[in-house]
Amino acid sequence: MRLEIDLSGLEDARKRMGAELVALESIFIKPIDPIDVALDGGYELPLDEVVTTNGLLEYEGRQILLYIQDHGWRCNEAIEDGSLGKKFHISECITLTVMRQKNRFERYVATHNIGGFFKIHGVDKDTGENLKGEAELSVCKNCLANIRYQGYSSRGNWTIKNKVFSSFSLTKFFTTYSSFFSHMPQRMAETASSSYSADWVELSKKIRRDCGYKCNSCGVVLETEKSLLHVHHKNGVKSDNAISNLEPLCKDCHRKQVDHSHMFVWHKEMALITRLRREQGVSPGQSWDRVFALADEATHGLLSIYKENSLEIPDVGYEYTSVMNSVVVVLDLAWKRNKECVLISDDISDKKLLTESGWAVYGVQELIDKNQ
Ligand SMILES: [Zn+2]
Ligand SMILES: [Zn+2]
Ligand SMILES: [Zn+2]
Repeated sequence: MRLEIDLSGLEDARKRMGAELVALESIFIKPIDPIDVALDGGYELPLDEVVTTNGLLEYEGRQILLYIQDHGWRCNEAIEDGSLGKKFHISECITLTVMRQKNRFERYVATHNIGGFFKIHGVDKDTGENLKGEAELSVCKNCLANIRYQGYSSRGNWTIKNKVFSSFSLTKFFTTYSSFFSHMPQRMAETASSSYSADWVELSKKIRRDCGYKCNSCGVVLETEKSLLHVHHKNGVKSDNAISNLEPLCKDCHRKQVDHSHMFVWHKEMALITRLRREQGVSPGQSWDRVFALADEATHGLLSIYKENSLEIPDVGYEYTSVMNSVVVVLDLAWKRNKECVLISDDISDKKLLTESGWAVYGVQELIDKNQ
């Protein structure tokens, strides 16, 4: 469904009032795509319709996860204790690869519902009748290792592995890789705006103005891109507007704060922040902490491998300039000496340009696989 609304009258009125321009899409409720509705409720589809993007699962431009609804005779126990149920998959792990190879069509269901409860069915083990319910299933560990999620590695330290596994949050997971996908779950856009105080919009504007639109963490100045500068409540209480509790942060630094799993960052936003950081000389320098702070979260799994193996620290957001046609490509990660780089965007012309100039261009997962 497409809504055609003439907004020119509204725009004239805005100009007359001298009001600040707010992105219109955030005011008008976008019609929800039927695919999103289907995926929200769990959508059965054959495995060969699921594609892999940087090791992650994708359907129609959306990030998804896969699970099996049919729990047979183990349905009761899975409803009671989700960890006893079948694991859900978030990446192209070995289990899924084998399934594909064997052409085995387990009835996988795709969803991007991040509520954490999965609709399952099976047979009631006491009565033998059909049983339906919801289970809080756990994530597949092969999947975590495959993408090195938060540094999870099958050979890694048990304590770290256990921490990553037990604290796994679907919301955090989906936001981590938000820059890989062209669509984002509609529900994610909802924020708990009701818990903000009534004067929040004004106060937030004032704080950002007073600090010169500078991110307090990485130092990038976002005067030209004000919407990418947020004001963060350090203690997590959105109604606590004590000045000491408020901190201006760019959208990228903001999503890296604890419990900020709801913050989706588009790749174009990330690229913009990265470009401004470079222009303003906010560079990562030669420290891993700095690289982790400035790099797209979607590259953190890969970075953890490089860090563990004491490999060379990459340059974040290096701008490759082609002298011939003065095209600039922002490289998400670059090892200039070896002319190796990671590109998140799948822009074919950028890739071609770099390859022709002798660069080796990798996707995030490609380089993880190469170094596993
Ligand atoms: Zn898996
Ligand atoms: Zn920042
Ligand atoms: Zn915050």
